[in-house]
Amino acid sequence: MTAIAAVLAAGPASAQKVDGAKLLQRALAERGAYQRAVRLADEVGARLAGSAAGDRAVAWAVAELKASGFSNVHTEPVTVQSWRRGPDDRVELLGPNGRRLHALALGLSPGTRPEGVRAEVVEVDSFAALHQLGDKVRGKIVFYNRAMKRSTGFDQYGTVGALRFMGAAEAGKLGAVGAVVRSIGTGWHRLPHTGATEYEPGVPKIPFAALAAEDAELLHRALQRGPQQLALSLSCGPGPKVQSANVVGELPGRGHPEQIVLLGAHLDSWDVGDGALDDGAGVGIAIEAARLAADLHPKRTLRVVLYMNEEYELSGAKAYADAHATELGRHVAAMEADAGAGPPLGFDVVGEAGAAIVRRWLEGTREPVKAVPRTGSDLTVLAGVPQLAIDQDVSDYFEWHHTDGDTADKIDPEAIERSAAAFARLAAEAADRDETLPRLPPNPPRR
Ligand SMILES: [Zn+2]
Repeated sequence: MTAIAAVLAAGPASAQKVDGAKLLQRALAERGAYQRAVRLADEVGARLAGSAAGDRAVAWAVAELKASGFSNVHTEPVTVQSWRRGPDDRVELLGPNGRRLHALALGLSPGTRPEGVRAEVVEVDSFAALHQLGDKVRGKIVFYNRAMKRSTGFDQYGTVGALRFMGAAEAGKLGAVGAVVRSIGTGWHRLPHTGATEYEPGVPKIPFAALAAEDAELLHRALQRGPQQLALSLSCGPGPKVQSANVVGELPGRGHPEQIVLLGAHLDSWDVGDGALDDGAGVGIAIEAARLAADLHPKRTLRVVLYMNEEYELSGAKAYADAHATELGRHVAAMEADAGAGPPLGFDVVGEAGAAIVRRWLEGTREPVKAVPRTGSDLTVLAGVPQLAIDQDVSDYFEWHHTDGDTADKIDPEAIERSAAAFARLAAEAADRDETLPRLPPNPPRR
């Protein structure tokens, strides 16, 4: 009988097995999540998948897991269809009051011809407004301008973010020659926020860049005075297919080591900033949470998976799901830390049936256990595996997300450990309870 099983045997079936307060005390004393996140950001910095820095991140993670006492530390191959930013992302407002705008090409955007693209701008705040313009979009540059509001959750990223995720494809369908989007972010630092966009087969791939909020406002005011032209000159585009890797390490269970609780985070970041909040914080949290949970000697194995290329391809997630397809039935739960370094607000479980079970596990806990449609993006391809997460407060996260300002100083040392302790608690419960969570449908929603 494991130590926590003995505690359970002494109490009622619904009693909490894991002492959350003790876990928190340890996390705050050791600061393991904070220190790892800061070191990854400072020592490796920006680490775009498919770049040399991405390889350095892989080496860093292997060394880190070994030094942290993990066993079976290894890399697993991931093929990345790389994408590279050019030396200069130029977006210029033309005319007598014109100027260069603060902009970044969006991930997966093609470059322009060397002479760039010049066209009149049409401004919209939604896809409905774009579709209403219909044929007037042909030959123009579409300007998506909708401000993201601060929120503790991902709701705004989902709704306003759609303009970035699908903006180039939607504008391309109507014959636009380029597009710009007001940054999907809440900061006012005149920093553009990059991020991936999705192109659709059969739809012209048009160049797409993000503008800093201040420059979006400037362009909006100019358009109120009259028609405006933009010049877009981007030298980004697809690079070669390259070999990269996920990094995996385990802390074996004491009773059912073949059963797995997966703690994930993504190792890659965008090529701007140092990837401190996204997702250095998650890497620190996943490693520390697994360590803290393993110290309680649960029955099952805690496996940390540090995914390559969450940001624009989910290629590491897909490679892991393929390589471990026959083993997914033995994954009793998976959770990913990919929501920055904010403090925990509660617990998220995919599906109402799973949430009801976790509520029993955590009976008496103040923080709510919510049923959600999805959690970490790297987990969306893990067919059937029950998914959990900590609902972290992201109200500061989107101020710096995918910008040059995503640096280690943005991490609050106490908040990140609070989240690490909450992840540890959830992982320890999932790794030691006799009762497991219900399997999910084979294809959980992607977004
Ligand atoms: Zn991320």
